[in-house]
Amino acid sequence: MMYLSVKPDLPTVEDVLPYLRQIHSNARYSNFGPLSTELEAGLLSAFGSADTAERCVCVSNATSGLTAALLAAGVNGKVAVPAFTFPASLGAVCSAGATPVIFDVSIDKWAFDEIIIEDILKSENISAVMIVEAFGILTNIENLIRMCLSHGVKVIIDSAAGLGVRRTGRVVHPDVFEIFSMHATKPLGIGEGGCVFMHNSRVSNFRAAINFALPVHQDHTVYWGFNGKMSEYHAAVGLAQLRRRHVLLQQRQGVVTRYIEQIKLLDGLIFSREVAASPWQFFPIRLPDEQTTESFVDLAAQKGVEIRRYYRPSLASMYQNFAHNSCLSSEQLSKTMCALPVRSGNAIAEMDEIIDAVLDSLKGAMNYA
Ligand SMILES: *Cc1c(COP(=O)(O)O)cnc(C)c1O
Repeated sequence: MMYLSVKPDLPTVEDVLPYLRQIHSNARYSNFGPLSTELEAGLLSAFGSADTAERCVCVSNATSGLTAALLAAGVNGKVAVPAFTFPASLGAVCSAGATPVIFDVSIDKWAFDEIIIEDILKSENISAVMIVEAFGILTNIENLIRMCLSHGVKVIIDSAAGLGVRRTGRVVHPDVFEIFSMHATKPLGIGEGGCVFMHNSRVSNFRAAINFALPVHQDHTVYWGFNGKMSEYHAAVGLAQLRRRHVLLQQRQGVVTRYIEQIKLLDGLIFSREVAASPWQFFPIRLPDEQTTESFVDLAAQKGVEIRRYYRPSLASMYQNFAHNSCLSSEQLSKTMCALPVRSGNAIAEMDEIIDAVLDSLKGAMNYA
């Protein structure tokens, strides 16, 4: 049986070819070359905030972007990380030489809320808070950011799956960095890659962090770094991908609109209705309990559709030594969240079949007659 799952949607060879010719004639392959510089400008104008102090820097992947942001911000000591996220959020903190402290999330927001952040800042000597935009759904986190800044705490936002929509409710400030992934499975995928939005005063620190802390004794305060630069080849795919962004977004949001129209007729499912808030790597829904979730995943698999389950198990159970508390909400979420497939490009042809199979499986799992 054909197995339907996540399918990357990257530009065609023909779309990328003109940029490859540019690389060849420039004879520049990495180290902040002209294509990655052009991609940075394109991403900033497509997704940046209105604040002219904001900049965008491309990186080799989102995980290295998170690590570099921590280094560029001068974070050391403890970093608060939510238990409900992808393991990269925690790995990046360790790579930066800082110590993750894992906190539970709000069960309704799937992320830290203001009450939780207040508790975090009271309970431990935290130097930075990692805010995760769960599943790449961009929410209004302005108040969360301002609360952290008012306590002198740095803010690293992991929006890895959210590249593709205009960012709103952001704060452009030297102590705030927002990271996105361009991995092949993410909406604006290029293979491996990512980008980071930041205040212009941090760009030299950030570039040093992804370039071995070079150049030595220049206008940055980063003492050590690593290689987190984006190659010109990846930037070539990125430039071709950026040109497709409107169609891509329209298709993916269209799929989610169709899911919502059907799923809202079933009781007991929890999901976002903010279609414009994400480019939708997939459509996350929360089922009533673990048993229903397992049977939904099994039924869908029998129909040839793979339902992925992300942020599972919670970081608190994967890394108990870093957990501040038992993180019951994250544990509960990790057992009941499912990622419904969303596709764009040619692979959208199979969406009808996928949506039908998903709905039948949901009805079966939830005992609809
Ligand atoms: C995908 C993802 C990452 C990792 O991105 P890479 O570009 O693969 O390093 C990190 N955090 C979250 C929340 C993600 O979804």
